[in-house]
Amino acid sequence: MPCSEKRARLLLTRGRARVHRVVPMVIRLVDREKADCALQPLRLKLDPGSKTTGLALVREVEVIDQKSGEIAREAVVLSLMELVHRGRQISEALTARRQMRRRRRGNLRYRAPRFLNRKKPKGWLAPSLQHRVDITMAWVKRIQRWAPVSAISSELVRFDMQALESPEISVAQYQQGTLAGYEVREYLLEKWARTCAYCGAKEVPLQVEHIRPKARGGTDRVSNLTLACGPCNQRKGAKPVEEFLAKEPQRLARIFAQVKRPLKDAAAVNATRWALANALKATGLAVELASGGKTKYNRIRLHVPKTHALDAACVGELGALHDWQKPCLAIKCTGRGSYQRTRLDKYGFPRGYLMRVKRVHGYQTGDLVSATVPSGKKAGSYTGRVAVRASGSFNIQCKDAVVQGVGHKHCKLIQRSDGYGYARIATNKGEAR
Ligand SMILES: [Zn+2]
Repeated sequence: MPCSEKRARLLLTRGRARVHRVVPMVIRLVDREKADCALQPLRLKLDPGSKTTGLALVREVEVIDQKSGEIAREAVVLSLMELVHRGRQISEALTARRQMRRRRRGNLRYRAPRFLNRKKPKGWLAPSLQHRVDITMAWVKRIQRWAPVSAISSELVRFDMQALESPEISVAQYQQGTLAGYEVREYLLEKWARTCAYCGAKEVPLQVEHIRPKARGGTDRVSNLTLACGPCNQRKGAKPVEEFLAKEPQRLARIFAQVKRPLKDAAAVNATRWALANALKATGLAVELASGGKTKYNRIRLHVPKTHALDAACVGELGALHDWQKPCLAIKCTGRGSYQRTRLDKYGFPRGYLMRVKRVHGYQTGDLVSATVPSGKKAGSYTGRVAVRASGSFNIQCKDAVVQGVGHKHCKLIQRSDGYGYARIATNKGEAR
């Protein structure tokens, strides 16, 4: 069961626990059996993103309202993490490999090129996308090993289609900031591609606009709503849209066409999100799937700043969030080095050879080390991810800069490379340590 830093420190100094892992810090009790431990239900919350996935481990508290007798689900944040993917590097590496092979092999073989004779198996995802599912699941499983996780919450869709269908959604509701209003906003942002419908302005604050003004009998249904920038909204006022866009018949036609076009369920389009959701369900834990509109609603209602990890903490049903002012652990996917031991020139022909062994004087690129250099130009202590050279003179990636040419004799191993780089980042009001 996760505990405070102070408690962990005391357990370690009194010899009641052993260090299991340094980053993220995991300790193991030595004087207790699992049977005599009291565990509380933990929930792992995820906010999957294209570049970064937020992870939050929370303890669930159920609070019963004295007056109404309703049960509210509150959460105490225990740990915040964000997982930085490397889908882009994977796709770039595969493209480079494909191009070099084509260059090398295309010239040499007197054989008709094969094409259109390969099939993708069902459910296939591009390697860069599969990587996102795989490493997220790898971390879910890791956290499950370290802490008694009993439930998972994940964001699946931007907005909840069912919430939109319900006829009660009215403009008055989103002005008061109810959940339905957030779902409508997310839906409109997606449908109108985050642009002003009347002038095409992007990256400006957008307001919800009635195409047929309310003053002229327009309804609050989502089919009568669009997005407009402040100035356009003001200028249009209560004019009918035909009159407002009388000089731009093309734009008017486009707006009407867009209104009629049904928006495909964003979730169905996004195969990766579903692949992850199915993998999460396969863990056998209770999985709650929520919409992005709900996350945003929770985050704004609870005055929580926007970061990947805190977004994850706000996913799903949430009455209140406690102890979120914490530093966050950034986990960057680095891979475990290259399998290929030959460097190629730009034509794809061998140019140089890398070391046959990855380990130098007991260290490998990616290991977490601390180095104390007693004298000379590089005198000082450094802690970080090491990059090895055959000469024994290493580079250390410290928090802000790379320190080059640190001798292997000054290094001390903290943790072996596991394919990730770790850094502590401060969240708003939470100090990085
Ligand atoms: Zn505009």
